[in-house]
Amino acid sequence: MSARIGVIGSNMVDLVTTIDRMPRIGETLEAPHFEMGAGGKGANQAAAAAKLGADVLMVSRVGDDLFGGNTIANFHALGIDSTHVRAVPGVSSGVAPIFVDARGDNSILIVKGANDHLLPADIDQAAADLLGCDLILLQLEIPLDSVYHAIDWARANGKRVLLNPAPATTALSLDRIAGVDFFMPNQTELSILTGLPADDRHQAEIAARLLLQRGMGTIIVTLGAEGALLVTRDETRHILPVRVQVRDTSGAGDAFIGAFAAHYVVHHDLHAALDQAVRYAAHSVTRAGTQKAFATGAEFNEFNL
Ligand code: ATP
Repeated sequence: MSARIGVIGSNMVDLVTTIDRMPRIGETLEAPHFEMGAGGKGANQAAAAAKLGADVLMVSRVGDDLFGGNTIANFHALGIDSTHVRAVPGVSSGVAPIFVDARGDNSILIVKGANDHLLPADIDQAAADLLGCDLILLQLEIPLDSVYHAIDWARANGKRVLLNPAPATTALSLDRIAGVDFFMPNQTELSILTGLPADDRHQAEIAARLLLQRGMGTIIVTLGAEGALLVTRDETRHILPVRVQVRDTSGAGDAFIGAFAAHYVVHHDLHAALDQAVRYAAHSVTRAGTQKAFATGAEFNEFNL
């Protein structure tokens, strides 16, 4: 069995402008700092897994603009197979203009751009290469029909599926995703998808059990600073967090999922993969940014000592 991960998902370019205060309508302000960052849930999870040494195939869409070329170059630099990362003519790349003011408050716009054009036919086009993957990672920043199609394809071809239902939408049909092997929401997503509260571990377990009844396989709920909760038919286990000095938690969920996948696809050991995931995500929150905050294998080994 191959130890390759296939990520069918999004990429975004974060355009982060630091400002002293938010501009008023019609006003032009000078801003002290601007920075671009590679993001998007699919790309982030692929990056975390690849930084830990996993063999990753990415299926994604970029715009026919300057950002598209940068995104593909970033995948190359990370050693991610981007054979199936293609440009969509006449469409922009996915971008997220972000303003962060002096108090740390932010305003974020999301333009899904080419991510909305990753269609079921594109998955079929990548199918021959996806057959070489053991685990398929999915999120919800591409059209839902493509997510359903990928799940159906994986089921028909005996591939394991990990679905991170983010960002959560009530339009997601639980019937269409029944049977996914790993379902990994955070507490907000779990609550939106089940209609139940998930503010603490006890509530999260009840909501997760509802998802088990609806046909999901293993449920892993990320609990932020409280670690994570594993809920299966046979067990409930609280994976304790690693206490760290927190700098920036953005992308922690993606770090967790990428690190889980990188371990699981090789060792098939659920508990050991979760242990790696909480440690890797904890390390990521000690640094600013998303992909650039994710440790390489060598940095992670040092952190683990
Ligand atoms: P994001 O949307 O910011 O990517 P998320 O809401 O999807 O994050 P969280 O549940 O906040 O995901 O965090 C994912 C994992 O990261 C947690 O399960 C935990 O292991 C780790 N983590 C998050 N915050 C902290 C923290 N303050 N200290 C230690 N570990 C943390």
